[in-house]
Order: sequence, then structure tokens, then C-alpha cells
Amino acid sequence: MLLLIRSIETYAPEAQGTRDILVAGGAIERIEDSISLPDSLVTVVDGAGLAAVPGFIDGHVHLTGGGGEGGFRTRTPELVLSDAVRGGVTTVVGCLGTDGVTRSVTALLAKARGLEEEGISTFIYTGSYGVPPPTITGSVESDIVLIDKVIGAGEIAVSDHRSSQPVFEEIARIAGEARRGGILSGKAGVVDVHMGDGARRLELLERVVAETEIPITQFVPTHINRNPRLFESGVDWARRGGFVDLTTSVAPQTAGDQAITAGQGLKRMLDAGVPIDRISFTSDGQGSVPVFDARGSFVGLGVGSVGSLFGEVRRAVVEGGVSIATAIQAITSTPAAALKLKTKGRLATGLDADIVLLRKSDWSIHSVIARGRPMMRAGDLLARGTFEPQSG
Ligand code: ZN
Repeated sequence: MLLLIRSIETYAPEAQGTRDILVAGGAIERIEDSISLPDSLVTVVDGAGLAAVPGFIDGHVHLTGGGGEGGFRTRTPELVLSDAVRGGVTTVVGCLGTDGVTRSVTALLAKARGLEEEGISTFIYTGSYGVPPPTITGSVESDIVLIDKVIGAGEIAVSDHRSSQPVFEEIARIAGEARRGGILSGKAGVVDVHMGDGARRLELLERVVAETEIPITQFVPTHINRNPRLFESGVDWARRGGFVDLTTSVAPQTAGDQAITAGQGLKRMLDAGVPIDRISFTSDGQGSVPVFDARGSFVGLGVGSVGSLFGEVRRAVVEGGVSIATAIQAITSTPAAALKLKTKGRLATGLDADIVLLRKSDWSIHSVIARGRPMMRAGDLLARGTFEPQSG
């Protein structure tokens, strides 16, 4: 099937002006000023009023659900395809979380394969909060080398009362194993690190970088925007070349007054001189999220949404005045480079045809294409998960 998006303002993510984009066989065939083909051969999408950006990458989603921190009934549900599609997310990286007992890396792998069959691209991290990390084959290294979808380890918890209280040697060893696994398999081999509210903040990771040969880019510390002190440590970390990941489901209503929204955080990081190729957003989707009322009293648990991913990019653009070409990098080219997803995160000839069309009037999501297949068109869902209601 050939799909031609005609005369559309294109962000690859850098601004390219008005282009025609031809999609064939799941890939971007050509991007040119003008492409003419007989209308009988192609499905044409009129790009008037729209902008094309790369499909979004959400690098931290609890695909099989997370939570369970308030007892078994607070175990959160799995991700369904339509939530990803509505949020413009065409690539997800799944992870476990606090619960590495009743949830397994094997189940996570199966869920990732299912979502891939349904139409989006998926990867996973091996491990959970706990150390030593649960794996499929017996080690972080062999999971990364032997299992196509495993691109690193995570989310390993530090500076948190729910962590295994890992010591320096344990974190260094996990990072070393992940690095070697990545080198052997041509993958990123990163360690996605859950940062808690603890006062030690990034200390453990900083020590590994200072005292071993592991490069700073081997770590992707996440939830950096959960409190101002951690945020400031994150700015220093990023200035030294490290990646920082801001969680889009973190907000004052869910993480307390101290929390910084990812959209505000992006603006502040850029103002502090952190380059955009160090800053990513992830949603923490399907994780449990405490909800507080206006007085700050706990009222119950909610579920993190992958829809917040682009919501915070939009906030940075609309409220923060960050350009769309810059802000969009936090969920496209930056995570693609950090996670070595070579066919993702950019609009260019030969790469996967993961494309989101935005309405320029309000930067809302209009259409979503995943590996060349239209998943949402003008706000109408065209693809739903296997057990989702097929209409409505
Ligand atoms: Zn976490």
C-alpha cells in the first residue's frame, strides 16, 4: 500500500518546511518538496493545516500493569492498544516495577509481542525494582544478547524506600552486564533507573561513573522531575553528558506540591543550558499514581496514562513557548538515540513510517501511522486491541 501525505509542514524533528511524504511497505520511501504519482496508485492525505512529526517513543511503560503498593486490588491493568494510539505512541519500552514477584519478565515479553502483532513497535527492559534483577535466561547480559526485544535493564530502584537498597558494587555490576550485553548484541544496553524521593538522589550512579569505566550514558535515570532537589541534581548530571528522563504522569496533583510537570521541567532544563539531546520524556504509563485532593489529602489511586506523554510536550510548546521542533525531540529523536532504536524517532528515507500528524491550530493529535499502517485518522481510531470493544 502506498500512502502519500501531501504538502505538509514537516518536522523530522528539525523543521523542514512543506514537504510531500511517501510511505510504502511500512517505511518512509521518500520525503521531497513535491512527489507526483497517479492518484489511482496511492492513498492521498491532504496535509493542509497539519504538521508531520515522528511517531512518539515512550521509553517507560508498565505494559503488564504495575502498582500493587496498596495491596492486591491496587495492581494496575495492562496497556491496551488504543491508549497508545490515541496518545500518538508508536513505540513503547515495557518494564516491570515494584512488583517482580507476581509479575514476570516473561509475561512482559509476551505482552510486548502481542502489542507488536497489534501494530505498534515494542521493546522491554529485563529486571524490576529489585536487585538482583529477575530475568528470563538467568542474567541481564544474556537476556540482552539472546532476546530480541530486551534492550537494557530496568527499572532498577535507587534512593527509594521500595528499593532493594542496592550498594555500589551491585549497581556497577548490573551496569557492566547491561553494557557488555549491549555491545555484544548491537543494542543500547542501558540501565533505566527509578529515582525515588530519597536524599541520596543520584549519588550511587555518580559514584559508578566516577569510580568505574562505565560511561554516564549507560544510565537513564527517570522521574527526575519528582522533586526540586532531584531536578537540580538532574541538571548537573545532564550537563556532564548524562541522559535525564522526565515523567509526564508526575504532577503536583499526583506527586505533591514539590513536583514539577515535565513540560515545565523541559523549559527549565533548556533555560539552564541542558541540550535537548539529553532530555527525554516517558509516561510511566499503567503505573499506579496516587491522587490528592485540592487540600493535599490522599483520595485514592489512579493509573498513569501514555496520553500524558505528548500532553506535556504540548504544555512545553503552548505554555512554555518552546518550539515544536525542539520539544518534540524529547519523545522522538532523543530517546531513539539514547536507546539505539536506529529506525525510529526521525522522519527520513528508509526509516520506519511511524508518523503523527498534528493540528497546527492547537497542536492536538489528528492522525497516527505506525509502520506504515494508519491507526487513527482525523481523530477516529482505526485500530483497536484484540479484546477491546471494536467500535465506540
Ligand atoms: Zn518508577
